Amino acid sequence: MSDSYDVVVVGGGPAGYPAAIRAAQLGMKTACIDAWLNRDNTPAFGGTCLNAGCIPSKALLESTELWHRAHHEFAAHGLKVGDIKLDLAQMLKRKDTVSRALTSGIKTLFGSNKVTGLFGTGKLLGNGQVEVTAHDGKKQTLTARHIIIATGSEPVNLKVAPFDGERIVDSWGALEFPEVPRRLGVIGAGVIGVELGSVWSRLGARTVLLEALPNFLPMVDAQVAKEALRQLTKQGLDIRLGAKVTGAKAGKGGVTVEFEQDGKTQKEEFDKLIVAVGRKPYTKGLGCDAAGVALDERGFVKVDAHYKTGAAGIYAVGDVIGGAMLAHKGIEEGVALAEQLAGHHTQVNYNAVPSVVYTAPEIAWVGKSEEQAKADGHTVKTGVSSFMASGRAKAMEQAVGLIKIISDAKTDRVLGVQMVGPYVSELAAEAVLALEYAATTEDIVLTMHAHPTLSETFHDAAQLVDGRAIHSVNKPKRA
Ligand code: NAD
Repeated sequence: MSDSYDVVVVGGGPAGYPAAIRAAQLGMKTACIDAWLNRDNTPAFGGTCLNAGCIPSKALLESTELWHRAHHEFAAHGLKVGDIKLDLAQMLKRKDTVSRALTSGIKTLFGSNKVTGLFGTGKLLGNGQVEVTAHDGKKQTLTARHIIIATGSEPVNLKVAPFDGERIVDSWGALEFPEVPRRLGVIGAGVIGVELGSVWSRLGARTVLLEALPNFLPMVDAQVAKEALRQLTKQGLDIRLGAKVTGAKAGKGGVTVEFEQDGKTQKEEFDKLIVAVGRKPYTKGLGCDAAGVALDERGFVKVDAHYKTGAAGIYAVGDVIGGAMLAHKGIEEGVALAEQLAGHHTQVNYNAVPSVVYTAPEIAWVGKSEEQAKADGHTVKTGVSSFMASGRAKAMEQAVGLIKIISDAKTDRVLGVQMVGPYVSELAAEAVLALEYAATTEDIVLTMHAHPTLSETFHDAAQLVDGRAIHSVNKPKRA
């Protein structure tokens, strides 16, 4: 049987499902195929983000943050809650309920937008054909004018510490420990490492993060990364920089990890080990070769500025093409491509991609750090405001962290915003808008911010760029 479509999307994660919905909204007959199976063998749209990444990890971060605040902040508010008990099974169940509600929501959206959603594995056959093998083994062939690859990425398996699904787990496994490990090791103090390390550390696991690089979060402005490291260390995360893992051996009693630090070989014992050393593109069994879709040396699908692969009628978006491996970057690419296929001229602004680490305090940034701006030849001026001066943050008992605005000294144009503090993930939207609209710090200074809000700290940072802050001590800096 052959079904013909205008657009067939292979992969229903954050890049694929928005591409399918937007294509259908623009009048194209669209199908979206997804191979995802949850642990209980139920298929689902939503990919890693909704099933095993962003959403379930945020659910656990939220629950454990409440646990942490109940223990460490409630007393300051005058709240005595006595002995709080952990029901980990319920916490994990809630996380799954949150994910399932959202993944079934995609099915509903497909229905209302007239996208044909198919569960199964898609394979490129060439000549505009895609074979779909359903989970029961049944096959069908679809034909399409346009095929979009949105198959995403998977965790990197470290040769010296291979996943065993029991003691040595990936980021998905780390969302499902049936009990709190007494001693938790994490390889990699990147985004996943600090988020999942925070979850289990808050619940009582003695957590050690082994990071090969000498700097913490090197993509973040050094001043912000330093403050983030200070706050996370204060909470009990043992972050060891310059610690390169060279081996891990799992046994009955735990896992022994060997690493090199300061020229010495050292060993640590853990009950569980999370390997979070990055993700790689997922194209297994997709048939790229047969269809003439070229991959680069790291396995990413090669595309041009319009997401076209070398094969006629085949495009790719999201993690599988590289760049920032972020759900929202995939969403924007999927939508932009669907609109381009409909004849629009939509483009993604890669200079205004926000990044967030959902620790507490959160870390968020968009645009350049001070170091990057200088390396790119800018003479910069910066404004750094502290949440210590924020009435709202103080009232919340969360007056930690800072916001740094980096702008061009000649034009006053905002080049980057780098933040660590309470709910800065939400403030990132204002920073993205500033970059998107090519705002100057003057534009932000002249924008009224509600009082008392956390966003006033953003306003303060803009005022501080030229030493005209009202609520902070002015120390204008020029580089
Ligand atoms: P990452 O690249 O952020 O961090 C991996 C870290 O592992 C690096 O700092 C690297 O130096 C270190 N490392 C590698 N080999 C090592 C070794 N042998 N010993 C010690 N350290 C070693 O990757 P990740 O944290 O796995 O995340 C994967 C992707 O998923 C990233 O692109 C990330 O942006 C994305 N993600 C984003 C979010 C979010 O937006 N909040 C959350 C989770 C994941």
